[in-house]
Amino acid sequence: MTTSYLTGLIGSGIGPSLSPALHEREADRHGIRLLYRTLDIHTLDVEPEDVGDIIHAARFLGFDGVNITHPCKQLVIEHLDELAPEAAELGAVNTVVFQDGRAVGHNTDVTGFAQSFARGLPDAPTRDVVQLGAGGAGAAVAHALLTLGVDRLTVLDTDSGRARTLADALTRRFGPGRAAAGFAAEAAERLARADGLVHATPTGMAAHPGLPVPAALLRPDLWVADVVYRPLETALLREARAIGCRTLDGGGMAVFQAADAFRLFTGLEPHTERMLADLTDL
Ligand code: NAD
Repeated sequence: MTTSYLTGLIGSGIGPSLSPALHEREADRHGIRLLYRTLDIHTLDVEPEDVGDIIHAARFLGFDGVNITHPCKQLVIEHLDELAPEAAELGAVNTVVFQDGRAVGHNTDVTGFAQSFARGLPDAPTRDVVQLGAGGAGAAVAHALLTLGVDRLTVLDTDSGRARTLADALTRRFGPGRAAAGFAAEAAERLARADGLVHATPTGMAAHPGLPVPAALLRPDLWVADVVYRPLETALLREARAIGCRTLDGGGMAVFQAADAFRLFTGLEPHTERMLADLTDL
């Protein structure tokens, strides 16, 4: 029986990641030993394309599993033996479990956002939803939203090609009429008839301050969900709360994706409410 766990995170610029603390605190509560190391490709001075070498080394050194983040979520796939259905549908992996000599890829960003949304915005109307941002986080969130039952999702991005690629992938998976793409400049027109706004661009982080859409486009009956979690209260959420919108911050997605990965690494049931409480003092 495994009595201790060795895990980690592969990505670039991951020094400030909250994942080590989230996983190790949760392990302490279970009375198990779990080490969570950051394997930063920038610090290791290797290319993102070398992620296979890190996976191989981690496996060789007895890691139980690793999380994967930007820019390796797609690149890692060819180095794995198997993909769980959600990861295969999305074409991106954020969790790899080494088990019985095999490396299996999962995507807990999708399940993480879905759980956060169900917890934080229960009964929110989901007839028509606008999402800003079609990058890595945006793809996971969009798949989660359509899985949750959003009738029609419009994805807007300053790079309209990215929005189109994501909408096409969503249409292949969920069928015609569920997803559409547009330019970020169409936000006013699209939001006028929307039930909710999901924000999945870096705007609102310290390095990208400001609002992703003019505050005048918000109205009290529009719910607003942000995936940015540093800070937990972005300028967008502050404006939305000020006018009375129901809101969801990005902390829930960060915690639930970690909790799902913890369950995959250890087989133990995470205390998600305690992990959410941890987030506020990390
Ligand atoms: P990314 O670079 O892969 O994608 C960002 C996308 O947003 C790009 O396609 C870009 O063209 C688009 N964009 C930028 N500004 C825009 C604007 N004003 N209007 C419309 N589109 C715009 O980045 P990512 O990995 O998807 O990360 C996005 C954010 O999500 C980051 O702040 C990251 O920290 C956060 N994130 C949160 C979680 C979580 O668990 N809560 C998980 C992953 C990422």
